[in-house]
Amino acid sequence: MSKVTFREDRCKGCQLCTTACPKKIIVMASSINEMGYHIASVTEQEKCTGCGLCVIMCPDMVIEVERGQAG
Ligand code: SF4
Ligand code: SF4
Repeated sequence: MSKVTFREDRCKGCQLCTTACPKKIIVMASSINEMGYHIASVTEQEKCTGCGLCVIMCPDMVIEVERGQAG
């Protein structure tokens, strides 16, 4: 299984990652970070394919994806 992590203090709440994810598993959390923005988070981690589109899309390099074993 691939693992998605967010550097929450960097997130600006732009929501680009939520639209980028083909699995639609990235949502905006109700909690806010130090800058006052709602932070992105993953709801159903087990559905992540490790495609990395969210990483490419994020303008602030918030997201890291650790790809799991293929198959
Ligand atoms: S790696 Fe792909 S499937 Fe996983 S959260 Fe990012 S965009 Fe969605
Ligand atoms: S694209 Fe990056 S900055 Fe924008 S909401 Fe997603 S994680 Fe936050």
